[in-house]
Order: sequence, then structure tokens, then C-alpha cells
Amino acid sequence: MMTMNPETAWKATLGELELQMTKATFNTWLKGTHLLNYEDNTYVIGVRNAYAKDWLENRLLDTILRTLAAIVRERVNIQFEVKDAHNDNDALSAPVYLNGKNNREQTTPSPAKTRPIGASSLNSLTRRYTFSTYVVGASNRLAHAAALSVSENPGETYNPLFVYGGVGLGKTHLLQAIGNKCQQAGYSVCYISSETFTNDLIQSIRNKQMAQFRERYRTVDVLIIDDVQFIAGKESTQEELFHTFNELYSNGKQVVISSDRPPKAMATLEERLQSRFEWGLMADIQLPDVETRKAILQAKAEQMGVYMPEEAVDYISQHIQNSIRELEGAFNKVMAYAQLADGRIDIDLVKMALADQIRQPEKLSVDRVLETVCTYYNVSREELTSSTREKAIAFPRQMGMYLARSETKASLPQIGMKLGNRDHSTILYGCKKVKNLIETDASIRREVMEIKASLYESSFPPASGRY
Ligand code: ADP
Ligand code: MG
Repeated sequence: MMTMNPETAWKATLGELELQMTKATFNTWLKGTHLLNYEDNTYVIGVRNAYAKDWLENRLLDTILRTLAAIVRERVNIQFEVKDAHNDNDALSAPVYLNGKNNREQTTPSPAKTRPIGASSLNSLTRRYTFSTYVVGASNRLAHAAALSVSENPGETYNPLFVYGGVGLGKTHLLQAIGNKCQQAGYSVCYISSETFTNDLIQSIRNKQMAQFRERYRTVDVLIIDDVQFIAGKESTQEELFHTFNELYSNGKQVVISSDRPPKAMATLEERLQSRFEWGLMADIQLPDVETRKAILQAKAEQMGVYMPEEAVDYISQHIQNSIRELEGAFNKVMAYAQLADGRIDIDLVKMALADQIRQPEKLSVDRVLETVCTYYNVSREELTSSTREKAIAFPRQMGMYLARSETKASLPQIGMKLGNRDHSTILYGCKKVKNLIETDASIRREVMEIKASLYESSFPPASGRY
């Protein structure tokens, strides 16, 4: 059995974090980071610049630690070091193979510390994904009821059960809950993503181990295939799945499938598979409504034993609407912030924590940025646009250039116009100067963070407002 090497672990962590965070957050702070060194459970991670280091340490460390620890199943430490990322092109795509053993062994959480590489997080059952932690609302009621029924009598009610819905809405959680429950009841369960299934197939063909492959998937009581949309266009995988399905089905075994869309909408899915997927029950999961989002936040707070005031729950559930995964990400961020502060969660802390997640950069104007800078440094707009070179004015002016450049879509000449018709090369110089200072001076970094926070905070609608 292979142990997970630290580099693989970090890559797997990045993969997981990418799903948890907004694209902007991930790309800004984590993309391109890489493992520099590993010793004694301490991962030393190379980051692009001091600003990123600060941000990661102050805002994201907790989430990263939790994610990495869950992957390697050990307590870990992380240190960030400023270092240029040279090869970030191989970032997230380490292929994942089953290691040829009976897959059912892997679905049983083993007491051993070391786990099979990468794949473990993809093809084994996760204990925390159970029915008891699954919050039911209008958006997932049918899927939940069907899943529960299937797990109580596998092979006897809906077969197959086909669950579909968008990213981060709870398909994997539900499928794993079925797996966990069936396994506890003594059934043999195989939970696998369709990608891993495909990889395993390819590997088995290559190694001439097709007999073992078939044995692995055709002899279980419950076969759960997550994210089946990835087999679209893959002929041999579809062929193999078709026969696997038939064999299981005719023996009264349960098949559960998830996909991001209904079978009909899978363009290159063979018709015979499509029709089989539709034999049983198709249940969709919709975007959660605000009540469900609130209930999920409250359940999470309860699970972690923290008190989250109503106002904070309202604010988060009103602003984070796209998926439950995003909602969880927001929750984790707030928790990380609370830990940095004194542990208390209030509405201001929530706003701070979610500032970069909720912001809408397109709507920020250069004027808005300059106004915020002026307020922060207590200088007037006239002073800012004037020609004085006094440091108390010149520096805020350069900060204005830098932030107008980074936070709005304005061009250098446009920013120059707003700052007393300055030349674009002057603006460029100011931007570079502040950028360099951010790399070297912690107090400047803090100033930037604070200005940004107030910039994005002031563009929030009032927390109590409903819309
Ligand atoms: P999908 O597989 O549809 O992309 P996941 O099942 O991975 O989504 O869900 C994303 C995250 O949201 C998971 O951490 C999961 O536990 C959580 N989650 C999803 N739905 C619910 C729910 N109804 N109640 C509690 N947590 C949920
Ligand atoms: Mg999933």
C-alpha cells in the first residue's frame, strides 16, 4: 500500500480548496503555491509574495489546515514562505488510480494511519457524510427521501436511483450517506467517482486484469457512481458500465448514480445506458432557498459548538446563494476570523471575513476607490489630485493609483485623468512603488487590507435589508 507523499497531499489539498473557495480567492492566494519542504508533519509551502503569505496566514490558514489534515488524516502544521512559483502548470491534475486491490477494502475506513494515495479522498466513504448531518429543505426533499428509502432497502425500491443537480448542492454527501448507511447495515458497498472508474478500467486493461476489475464492481450489494457525467464520450467506459449495471440489476443489487444533469441532457451518452438510468427514480436537487441556507448554517454552528447570532446567519445566508459548498466555505472563513479575534462572532466580523467573497469588483469606480483612500488617510480629494509632493499626500495618492488599478477595470490613462491629469507612466510608477512596498513592509500590507475592507464593506447593502 502506498502512503501519500507530501507533494501529492498538497496537490490534493489544492484540489479540494479550489472546490471550497470562490474562484477569485483560490486563484489569488493559492493557485501556483507548491510544497518546498516537508518535515515532522510540517508542510512548508512556497507562495508568490509577502502579501499572499500574510493573507494566507491571517485568513485562510484554518481552512487549509483542516483540509490538509482531512486528506492525510493526521494533525499537520503549515508554514508559508515567499518564493517564486516556477512550475505551476502541473498544479492540480495528478492522475488518480486505484491500486489494483479489491476496491471494497478501500471503502472500509481502515485504522491504519497511511492511506492509499490521493484516491482515498475520492473513492472511499467519508464518515461525516451521513443522513444525520444532511439538512432537508424544499430543494432536496425528494432526493433525500429517495436516498433514505434506498438505503433502508437496497435493491428493492428505486433502482437505479439517479440524483442530479448543480455543483456543490449535496449530491456527493447524499450518495455517501447511502453508502455509509448500507455499509453499517452489513452490505458491501462500492462508492466511486466515474473518473476513478474510468481510470481503473484503463489500468486494468493495460495490466490484463479485467477479470479482477469485473469481480470488483459486479459482486457488490450497492454500487454508487458519483459524477457519471464524466463518462460522456468515453465508449469503453460506457460499455463496461452497461454490463456492470445489467449484472447488478439482474441480481437485485442496488445502483445509485449522480450527475450534474439528467440523462437526457448527456449528449454523448449511449442510448441504452440513458434508458437504464431512467428505469428507476430520477431525483433532482435544486438551489437551496434562503430558509434551507439558514438551517444549514445553524446546523454547522451547532455541530461545531459555536454560537452564531441570528443577524450573522441572516447575513451569510442572504449573500451566499450559489451553492452549499460556497455556504460552507463562507462559514469556515467566518470561523477562521473568529479564531483570530476573540472567538466571538458578530456581524462586523462576518462582513470582514466575507468581504472578498461577496464583493462585486465590476461595480467599483475609481472615484469610489479614491474616496475611500482619502477617508482612510484623512486627506482631501483636492490634495490628492494636487501636484504637491509632500509625503503625507504623495503616498496616499500612490495608494490610490495602486488600488484603482487593482480593484477597478480602469486603464492607466483613465486613472491619470482622475488624479489631476497625470501621465500614465506616473500612474504606473505609483502602482509599482506600492506593489513593492507591499512585498516588504507589513504595515503597508495591513493598510491595504484595511482600505480594501472598508471599500468592500461600504458597498454592502445593509445587513437587515431583505431583497
Ligand atoms: P456536490 O457533490 O453536489 O457537488 P457535495 O455533496 O460535495 O456537493 O456538497 C458540498 C458541501 O456541502 C459538502 O461539504 C456537503 O456536506 C455540504 N452539503 C450539501 N448539501 C447539504 C445539506 N443538505 N445539508 C448539509 N450539508 C450539505
Ligand atoms: Mg460531488
